[in-house]
Amino acid sequence: MFRLSPHRLSIFRQCRRRYWYRYVDRRHAELHKQWPFLIFGQTMHATLKQFLGPANHERGYAQARAILVDRWAETRAGYTSRDEEVMYWRRGLAQLRWLCNCEEAQARPSMLEATYSTYLTSDFRLDGKIDRVDVDGTGGCHVVDYKTGKSSRGADALQLLIYALILSGSLHFDVRSASFLFLNGEGRRPVQPGEADLRWAREELFATRADIEAEREFKSSPSFLCRWCDFLDLCPAGREAVTGVAGDEPDWAEEPES
Ligand code: SF4
Repeated sequence: MFRLSPHRLSIFRQCRRRYWYRYVDRRHAELHKQWPFLIFGQTMHATLKQFLGPANHERGYAQARAILVDRWAETRAGYTSRDEEVMYWRRGLAQLRWLCNCEEAQARPSMLEATYSTYLTSDFRLDGKIDRVDVDGTGGCHVVDYKTGKSSRGADALQLLIYALILSGSLHFDVRSASFLFLNGEGRRPVQPGEADLRWAREELFATRADIEAEREFKSSPSFLCRWCDFLDLCPAGREAVTGVAGDEPDWAEEPES
């Protein structure tokens, strides 16, 4: 069975050697690191899941902050320093403040933070962890993906189209819209999941599958992202790249999105 997900796809596109370490050589469980931006992203997603969930009826900032406090306590040990934790804590509060000051805080989602799959063919499975699905009064479904990074760079429309394929495939949803929701205050960025868009997404996925199956070398693609690669210790090209940017970090060298 060949499997693809937005995460696998983005790793393959970013660096084939990294894909090889993770999915072919399967070194991830052994070498996986607790990156602070991942901890933060997980905490914010857990907070929003509870805040927008059916059991919570208080949609103000005080309630959101109280939930963040609880979820933070579960993960804070992963931060490597007090300064780092404070920086992310402030970012978390700012994002919740923004959310609670707009209509996004009043959403009544039908599905939150769940992993689903669909089969493009009998031996090609597509997986995706979907942050949120809202269903409107006419049965139309609206997909939302939260972005918790500092900037809005790096959002790939294909991610949302994959979710639309999954929801309209196995789950037979009528997907009418899909959006990234940037919690840094930039708000929504819509992606149209029309028929032509979904056809293009399928073609991209089949082309990527062909690329992966034909790949033999899995060459490294060193970049500033090597700094946050779990496999840096195994990878001479990555270590060289990290050394090369040290002390001269470009302003776009932000940590990846969670
Ligand atoms: S360290 Fe860099 S070049 Fe090496 S596998 Fe990781 S991302 Fe690729």
